[in-house]
Amino acid sequence: MFEKILVAVDLELEPARQVLRRARELNQESGEVWVIHAVEPQYVQYSIDPTFSGKLTRAMELDALNAASGRVAQICSTFGIAEDHQLVMLGRPADQIHKQATEKAVDTIVIGSHARRGLQRLLGSTANSVLHDAPVNVMTIRLQEEDQ
Ligand code: AMP
Repeated sequence: MFEKILVAVDLELEPARQVLRRARELNQESGEVWVIHAVEPQYVQYSIDPTFSGKLTRAMELDALNAASGRVAQICSTFGIAEDHQLVMLGRPADQIHKQATEKAVDTIVIGSHARRGLQRLLGSTANSVLHDAPVNVMTIRLQEEDQ
C-alpha cells in the first residue's frame, strides 16, 4: 500500500528520525523512501536594499543548501536512504513537497506535527500548509514532546 513515500524533514535530528522511523514501518522496510528538505529563501529579503548586488544573498543560500545537505545525509545514513533519494532544494517547503510528491509519483507524504498553542497555532505550521492542496495523501506523525 505504501510503496513510495516522501518524508519531509526539518534539520533537527530527533524529530526527523521519528518521522523516518514511522515511514520505514509503513513500507515495512521495503519499497521506496524519498526524503525532502526545503531551504526557505529567507535571505532574499536583504536584496530589497538597492546597494546589494545579490551575490551575498546567493552565497548565503548556497551555504544554507550545503549545510542542509550534510544534515540530511547524516539523518538518512541511519535509515539506509541513498543519496539519490535525498532531495534538498531552495523554496517554500509546502510548494517543494507538493512538487516532488507529484514528480516522484509517491503514494503518500509523511510529515511531523508538533502540538501547538496560542500564537504558534495561529501562525500555522509546515504540516498545515502541506495539507492544503496536497496532490496525494498526507500522514502526520505526532512528534513526542521530549524530542522537540
Ligand atoms: P514545523 O511545522 O516547522 O514544526 O514542522 C513540522 C514538520 O514539518 C517537521 O517535522 C517536518 O516533517 C516538516 N518540515 C518542517 N520544515 C521543513 C522543511 N524546511 N522542509 C521539509 N519539511 C519540513
